[in-house]
Amino acid sequence: MLPVIESLLILQDRDQKIRILRLELKNLPEERTSLDTRLAAGSNQLNSVKGRGRDIELEKKKLEMEAQAKRDSIAKFRMQQFQTRKNEEFQALTNEIKRFEADIEKIEDHEIELMEEAEKFKGLIADADKEYAQTKAHTERQIVEIATKIKAIEGQLIELEAERAKLAEGIDEDLLYQYNRLFINKGGLAVVALEHETCMGCHMKLTTQTAVRVKGNKEILNCEQCGRILYYSE
Ligand SMILES: [Zn+2]
Repeated sequence: MLPVIESLLILQDRDQKIRILRLELKNLPEERTSLDTRLAAGSNQLNSVKGRGRDIELEKKKLEMEAQAKRDSIAKFRMQQFQTRKNEEFQALTNEIKRFEADIEKIEDHEIELMEEAEKFKGLIADADKEYAQTKAHTERQIVEIATKIKAIEGQLIELEAERAKLAEGIDEDLLYQYNRLFINKGGLAVVALEHETCMGCHMKLTTQTAVRVKGNKEILNCEQCGRILYYSE
């Protein structure tokens, strides 16, 4: 194999590694965002369950106050009954008392329902709290992992790019230009092997004449179909 082909193959290997790492680096912030979104969704869900729990407590308190107000009114009606001498007024107060007592009964039934619901929500909130704590711990660990990964990749890239620059220095400028264009335009594969007279880049058969010249390992030749740089190794 021509020494320059060997250099190009090492260069290509580093370029491929750089390409993969850059792609990974590009996708990591997106992963980070999706983790943030998951965390926020979990928090919203928890808050919504807690909010419903709080609403039930407030409703219960409101009903308690309503019932107490009605009890106070009944006490007042009873006082008024003591004071009145009119039969008609006495009867009217009795009716009011009955009406209020019926109201209180309804309120108390509703209170019992709410108490049962509140009990149910206590369990739901406890479950949601536990679930969110787990999600949060897990997600935060992943976020730290991503940050560590970004740092590691950035470090690797600095090293690879320095190595790449050094390698490129030793390669003829025109050839390097050709290689760079091929690497960009041919999916990160600029230098390919010749196997069974076939280009391993585009998988087309070469003419026998070109194949023989490639096998001679004395000159740099390109695939007649895709233009990639060819090499032959036994
Ligand atoms: Zn080809």
